[in-house]
Amino acid sequence: MFKYDVAIVGGGLAGLTAANFLVREGKKVVVLEKSNRLGGRAMTNEKNGVLMNLGPHGLYISGDAMTILTELGLSIPGGNASKSVQIHGILNKSVQVIPTDFSSIMSSSLLSWKSKFAFGKLMLKLMKLNVDSIPEITLTEWADAEISDPMVRHIFYSICRLTTYTNAPTLQLAKPVLKQVQRSLKDGVLYVDGGWGTIVEKLKCQAISAGVEIFTSKNVTSIEHHENGQIIQCSDGKMFEAQECIVAAPPKEAMKMIKGAEQTSLSLWNEQAIPVTASCIDLGLKKLPNQQHQFAIGLDQSLFFTNQSRAAKLTHDGTVVVSLAKYNSPLEEINAHADKKQLESLMDLLHPGWRKEVVVQQFLPKLTVSYDFPHIKRKVNPGPSIPEMRGIFIAGDWAGHEEVLANAAVASGKRAAQEILKTNEMIIVKEG
Ligand SMILES: Cc1cc2nc3c(=O)[nH]c(=O)nc-3n(C[C@H](O)[C@H](O)[C@H](O)COP(=O)(O)OP(=O)(O)OC[C@H]3O[C@@H](n4cnc5c(N)ncnc54)[C@H](O)[C@@H]3O)c2cc1C
Repeated sequence: MFKYDVAIVGGGLAGLTAANFLVREGKKVVVLEKSNRLGGRAMTNEKNGVLMNLGPHGLYISGDAMTILTELGLSIPGGNASKSVQIHGILNKSVQVIPTDFSSIMSSSLLSWKSKFAFGKLMLKLMKLNVDSIPEITLTEWADAEISDPMVRHIFYSICRLTTYTNAPTLQLAKPVLKQVQRSLKDGVLYVDGGWGTIVEKLKCQAISAGVEIFTSKNVTSIEHHENGQIIQCSDGKMFEAQECIVAAPPKEAMKMIKGAEQTSLSLWNEQAIPVTASCIDLGLKKLPNQQHQFAIGLDQSLFFTNQSRAAKLTHDGTVVVSLAKYNSPLEEINAHADKKQLESLMDLLHPGWRKEVVVQQFLPKLTVSYDFPHIKRKVNPGPSIPEMRGIFIAGDWAGHEEVLANAAVASGKRAAQEILKTNEMIIVKEG
């Protein structure tokens, strides 16, 4: 039996963030990761020298994740992907320029004069909006009240999909979405040099050098809750004892591993969770067939294309790394085969002749982008502590409060660590 102050189940962004916050306050921490490598959905695959994230990945420059990584003393190398890029929109199988500044608004053929005025007004509103004053309404309700022009609404929804990876406007709460849109308009996103594996590596190295023990290929099968310590059992027979435990794994996994979880708030959080998925293609290309098309979003389809290597270093030999995503609606059946065809058709439209440029590729159907998001059916925000089980905490992108995606993963990891530190402080004061 190995003994620790805190055991963290799951070595993705949430788990590694929590480990770093705990170890710097002197806690003896262990991270147990099921897979043979760390990172979860933030991992980067290397194929023939080409680095590919799992689908398109951008780190919000003024988001919670970046702020917290900076607080941990980590600097993330990369390029601002939002700088001087022309955004294209796909509508009726044709490619159109989406206006992003005054002159492109004026020259855009996508919008009528009336629509141009409405679009300019909406952009100004979004930038100045006090999002905290938005009541608990859905994105559709907000858009219905604020945007009457149909084309402007198309563009608005595609921006919301792009920034949240979520295609569920009738379920999404307006406030967190508009917060994310504002961040994207204000500072944009960073494409990370070396891919998101760089973030994982930095979190891992800092944790290890501060004393965190990390074990991969450790599939946690059960967590037994006790008032004075948690017993963690792995499928290889290894057992760990820890005063506190953070489960930074998906909600269904958490339900399975924590004994007696059916009687706790975790059960409600798991039931209310609506996972969001996407199908993605990542490609390494000898060259980009059409240099004009670096970034495109679907206006009448939930599609996205980006050249990630325009802003990030992902190869040594000049191979171009592009990513495409189809955002699946949680309300519709997913057809992975149809998604692949749709993504390939998008490449045909944007980059005719792309097939002969392919060096490496990966197709990732039905990837879970986020295990939950702030939606209208959510009764309560999950975590960080499971109130009925003192000593067990949760983290992960499904445990975001008003954050989404990686911002939710990293912020919830910090929240869980802080809750443990706060609880320990209270016990010391009580005992003192
Ligand atoms: C296609 C795609 C595109 C995305 N793009 C963006 C983007 O542009 N911007 C953004 O901010 N976010 C993006 N995201 C979301 C972001 O990648 C995730 O929110 C984040 O990586 C989730 O981190 P996490 O730690 O919560 O979960 P995970 O990364 O899933 O980590 C959980 C870990 O727990 C481990 N685990 C599970 N069960 C067990 C067990 N029984 N025992 C031990 N370990 C276990 C898993 O193996 C995994 O490593 C994207 C995600 C996808 C899939």
